[in-house]
Amino acid sequence: MVSKTLAVKNAANPIDNPEIIRVTSDVDQVACNGGHPVLGHPITYYTFDDTNSVECGYCDRQFVRQSK
Ligand SMILES: [Zn+2]
Repeated sequence: MVSKTLAVKNAANPIDNPEIIRVTSDVDQVACNGGHPVLGHPITYYTFDDTNSVECGYCDRQFVRQSK
């Protein structure tokens, strides 16, 4: 099984309000570090299982996978 990981690197957007990150339908896993090297958090991986939405427990970012 091939697992694609999307690394979210968005240093221009430090932690502010919870964000919604949209990914394409072929992404199985996302990585979040808060989007900031200092104000962020340890990189954490989240896997889309039977859901198309996961929320980062650190920074409340929500990752939404597009339905096919
Ligand atoms: Zn996060």
